[in-house]
Amino acid sequence: MSDFDALREALRVSPDNVPLRAHLAGQLLAAGQAADAEAEYRRALALAPRDAALALGLGEAFLAGGKASEAAVTLEALAEQPGRPARTLLAWARALHAEGDDRAAARRYRQAVSEDGDLADPAFADALGLATDADEAGGPAFAVGGRVRAAADVPDDAPRLDAERSDVTFADVGGMEDLKEEIRRKLIYPLQQPDLYAAYGKRAGGGLLLYGPPGCGKTHLARATAGEVDAAFVPVGLHDVLDMWIGESEKRLHGVFEAARAEAPCVLFFDEVDALGASRSDLRQSGGRHVINQFLSELDGVDDANEGVLVLAATNAPWHLDPAFRRPGRFDEVVFVPPPDRAARAEILALLLRDKPTAALDLGAVANKTDRFSGADLKAVVEAAVDRKLDDALRTGTPAPITTKDLTAAAKRRKPTTADWFATARNHALYANESGLYDDVLAYLDRR
Ligand code: ATP
Repeated sequence: MSDFDALREALRVSPDNVPLRAHLAGQLLAAGQAADAEAEYRRALALAPRDAALALGLGEAFLAGGKASEAAVTLEALAEQPGRPARTLLAWARALHAEGDDRAAARRYRQAVSEDGDLADPAFADALGLATDADEAGGPAFAVGGRVRAAADVPDDAPRLDAERSDVTFADVGGMEDLKEEIRRKLIYPLQQPDLYAAYGKRAGGGLLLYGPPGCGKTHLARATAGEVDAAFVPVGLHDVLDMWIGESEKRLHGVFEAARAEAPCVLFFDEVDALGASRSDLRQSGGRHVINQFLSELDGVDDANEGVLVLAATNAPWHLDPAFRRPGRFDEVVFVPPPDRAARAEILALLLRDKPTAALDLGAVANKTDRFSGADLKAVVEAAVDRKLDDALRTGTPAPITTKDLTAAAKRRKPTTADWFATARNHALYANESGLYDDVLAYLDRR
């Protein structure tokens, strides 16, 4: 009697024994019997539908059996589940690779390796066209998608910065065409053509401050700016920074800029930058003002210290921001990032659905039903539609493509999350709009 026969016999006696069935499925998969493994994983999942290890096994069995698209759907849905194994991402990357989408595969592979370094597979990375540490060096070594310590000439006591390699570019950002052009004009062209700008006596630099309701793509756009110029992306969360650095904040803030300068070209991104303003009133007696001044003088830079450092900042609460931030050479451009319009919603949906099996879709129809939805809301709609599809697939055993109806039904079950922000913003825009700062918000509200 083979091992499989023995296991099957044991299962005949106790058919509902999930660990035993999972064991048999794993053995079959290891022996290259993909179809049998798939069948056993399905039976086990019928008994324990939320078991992440079983769903991963099913995905791997699909993949081994040459069913790349079923594998991708199963693994993508699993990837969203909290606590799922990091290997899910690697298997998903392989499924995407098998489907011929190496760009998406590279993204997932990087994510897998950054969650668990043991998953690194140089041969697979090579097949995806990813550089290894040594190839990509020329400066600080970037692990594939990993985190990197600030470069060597930064003082020892400088704060640790997590520089990321961004694999999204403007092509991954739906809509926002004017804003992309603004960023190109202010940050990207001066970086690419410094001599031309110098010839006209213009210095590259300064920052761009993005504000607007949550989830509308401020962080996504900042990350894409880094990808667009193949620069490092250095996100700095000020809430964390200031809590941690009380008493030493100025020195530390200087360290952040120094480390970023050593990483140039890079995009230094301050999320929740209003935390600086808020900290001023809290810390008025204890040097909060100095922190703001330090931040501003770092932004101003000495000579061309900030060359190659693109500074972007974002806030949901611009009304808490110190007006000194908006002086020329600092965040002299304060840009409203509204919820996506109809055309942008259709574009964002297309981006969110590009790695998924879909029927012919009428995204214009879905865009019509998602007025005032943020990019993050649209992401939630797509995820909800995928979840339903996956539940159906597990029940019926047949994965089916996502349809327009699935998406409109998922949209109907949600409300846009931008409404609260506009309720607050309207008051500020109506009663505290001295310098016309919120004209764009008023214009947006007027059009509604
Ligand atoms: P918060 O103010 O909450 O930090 P945010 O404005 O920075 O929000 P993001 O975190 O950038 O918003 O957006 C949330 C997610 O929504 C992104 O990870 C991205 O997947 C998606 N998204 C938002 N806007 C777009 C867009 N224009 N194109 C593609 N995806 C988008």
